[in-house]
Amino acid sequence: MEDTDKLFVEVIVPLALDGCFTYSVPLHLRDRVKIGVRVEIEFGKSKKYSALVKKITNESNWQKVKDILDVLDENPIVTTRQLQLWDWISDYYLCGLGEISLAALPNSYRLSSETLVLKEAVDYSSVELTDDEYQILEALEIRETLSIQDIQLFLMKKSVMRTLKSLMDRKLLTVIESLKSKNSTPQVKWIKLHPRLIEDKAEFNIALNSIQKNENQTRFLLSYLMNNPTFIWKKQSEIINKSKTSSSVVISLLKKEIIILQELDKFSYPAYEENSSHLVLSDEQSIAIDQIKENWKSKDVCLLKGVTGSGKTHIYIKLIQETIASGRQVLYLLPEIALTSQLVLRLRQHFGDQLLEYHSGIGNSNRLAIWNACLNNHPFIVGARSSIFLPFNNLGLIIIDEEHDQSYKQVDPAPRYNARDAALILAQEHQAKILLGSATPSIESYTNAVQNKYGLIELNARFGESKMPEIILIPLKEAYKYNRMKGFFSEDLLLEIESQLQRKKQILIFRNRRGYSPVLQCRNCNWEAKCEQCDIHLTLHKQYHHLKCHLCGLKKPIPSKCPQCSQHSLKMIGFGTEKIEEELSLIFPEINIQRFDLDAARSKVSQSQILEAFHEGDIQILVGTQMLTKGLDFDQVLLVGILQADQILFYPDFRAQERAFQLLTQVSGRSGRRDDLGKVIIQAFNVQHPVLKDVMNHDFETFYNREINERKKFVYPPFVRIVRIEIRHRKEEVANQSIEYLATLLKKQYGKRILGPADSTIARIKGYYAREIFIKIEKKSNLIKNIKDNIRNHCQELKNQEAWHNLRILIDVDPY
Ligand code: ADP
Ligand code: ZN
Ligand code: ZN
Repeated sequence: MEDTDKLFVEVIVPLALDGCFTYSVPLHLRDRVKIGVRVEIEFGKSKKYSALVKKITNESNWQKVKDILDVLDENPIVTTRQLQLWDWISDYYLCGLGEISLAALPNSYRLSSETLVLKEAVDYSSVELTDDEYQILEALEIRETLSIQDIQLFLMKKSVMRTLKSLMDRKLLTVIESLKSKNSTPQVKWIKLHPRLIEDKAEFNIALNSIQKNENQTRFLLSYLMNNPTFIWKKQSEIINKSKTSSSVVISLLKKEIIILQELDKFSYPAYEENSSHLVLSDEQSIAIDQIKENWKSKDVCLLKGVTGSGKTHIYIKLIQETIASGRQVLYLLPEIALTSQLVLRLRQHFGDQLLEYHSGIGNSNRLAIWNACLNNHPFIVGARSSIFLPFNNLGLIIIDEEHDQSYKQVDPAPRYNARDAALILAQEHQAKILLGSATPSIESYTNAVQNKYGLIELNARFGESKMPEIILIPLKEAYKYNRMKGFFSEDLLLEIESQLQRKKQILIFRNRRGYSPVLQCRNCNWEAKCEQCDIHLTLHKQYHHLKCHLCGLKKPIPSKCPQCSQHSLKMIGFGTEKIEEELSLIFPEINIQRFDLDAARSKVSQSQILEAFHEGDIQILVGTQMLTKGLDFDQVLLVGILQADQILFYPDFRAQERAFQLLTQVSGRSGRRDDLGKVIIQAFNVQHPVLKDVMNHDFETFYNREINERKKFVYPPFVRIVRIEIRHRKEEVANQSIEYLATLLKKQYGKRILGPADSTIARIKGYYAREIFIKIEKKSNLIKNIKDNIRNHCQELKNQEAWHNLRILIDVDPY
């Protein structure tokens, strides 16, 4: 047979692997293979996977190739544009296409022998089924879950994925992420004032009077009406909680036609209603929009640098509306945590059902639904970094809000991509425009703007009457010396808290460390509580009565005496949010204080519950970590307290100053966002620190000029590119030898560009010794490709060595 008679596919296997794998296509499947469809393959000894077709060809360099077993999709599930983006990410970030596919595809699209399936809770008695399909569903009646391998065995078939897919398409079967989430999507009840009462004021009053005698019903209704001038849909459970009533009240109010109710899947939202909000822009905002559009004529990217509270969101909204009206799609990227904030609610008021949210909190079936909606031109997606992987059809605009935020960069696992940077490639593919927004732009983006690569648009004042907050610095050294401290609080801060509480205003207290105390130490022998697996201290959590490693999750009981010298001489050093909360509760016992950090609110649901309660005024003081910084807009907050800013200022990293400026400015920016002048009190030992001055003066330019000079002097980005290579191994000497070997190889070729090897910042992680090398590459250098190719080859070489084959090698391009 001639070679041209043969057909091969190169496929991406959903495993953490580099590159593509070649399979041959048997005759009977030839008509069905297309780029972007999934095929069933055998990989390794006997494991089956659904792999994605990347290329179809008549040639193969391999002697022996296996046949694909089946074609799973009729139509491509990824577009060629997506595959191009994956290629770019793989080249730029030195990661595997398999790794990218794991990050990009919804779970239900990634099938393997181990994938567990379960039956959806629907009746299938009247559905037309093949014998195999019927047998699978029957089996799942008996055993709740089955792996694909199990099904293969009992059907005695080599290839079963298509059968499973057919059941999934008909929503009879689903893939499970973990056993926890196997219930079908929970339902949420939403209530709203009956339309007859909205239209007619007299009717409304009659209705109110009619329930006057019933205390619970009145309380329920008033809770619904509070802060809700346009009578939007609210969650029934929230109103019940707030009014301390029960669902029987809802039934009565429904009967009396005072409210209406609808039930929706969690993560679905009531439809958009016209009356919700009409957009009037200020002159400054209109001018900014004109400037953005003018710049977009010659550039693809604009940076909107607007101080906190300057009204950037309204500018986004206007541009989104225009893009949608022109028939093109919009992607709005947000840092993960900001997705729980009111910002999404605000956007939803304008876009209702047009807006879909895509982030880690949504379940499998929602993920798939959004994926398909996107393919079908759905107008507006709001999401975290992974939404750049959605299959857009006709993207017109990408907004990257809080563009400086480090959560756009994925740290672990690979692909270690920066969504902000990858979005540029995505935009190019669609010829879409990009708007970056921030009050504290990243050094990289601002440099691009200064160099005229990006358009720069500035808003230097807050919206309306609101002024920038006044920032007061409290020198801790003096405060301690003159006894003006009560615990961790200076007298000035306490006085200010008191006066705000009297005025019924709200307060945010910021401390970038969770738990009760970060270090437990013995006064006698200097023993310190450290993790056995990792080179860090264990944090003491009083609430849970344990010591915990924030890296590997190890938990231990709190010892009552020193494990080393057996003395009762243990003391806690330093303090976290938990201890602050406790201390504040002792000082203000009457006041409702709540913590907002990963311990108090790990899930999206609990996060939004706390924020909602704060918004409603049920909480007076919120004590939190950097979760407080992202996109919060509370009009009653007139005081922000920052305890011990020093911890933020000194950090062994070339971005430390930039991060400190961003964090302090963003936290400060939560204060006084309406008509009243807000205050910020920063407590610090190093009051002379220049970053503190810049923050106090709201002076980004001075900060930037100093910082960019430092970066130039010490040769850091944006003047060079950095690639970090980390090697991890359980044995210290293997980690040391292999990194030494790699460094020598690279130094021979690239000389002084190679820094290290050295211990990583955390030298031991989850039982692995971690060693690192940094590579600095000149910006304009045509060496970049060459260096990257060699890094790839050398790392492969390292892994090929018998003694080193289980090394873990992490490559991080543009580390953050
Ligand atoms: P930023 O995103 O720049 O921090 P926001 O968009 O949150 O600022 O605006 C700050 C406040 O000003 C918000 O409460 C917002 O509702 C209000 N605001 C901004 N623009 C307008 C406008 N055109 N009309 C009415 N209110 C506005
Ligand atoms: Zn001791
Ligand atoms: Zn640990």
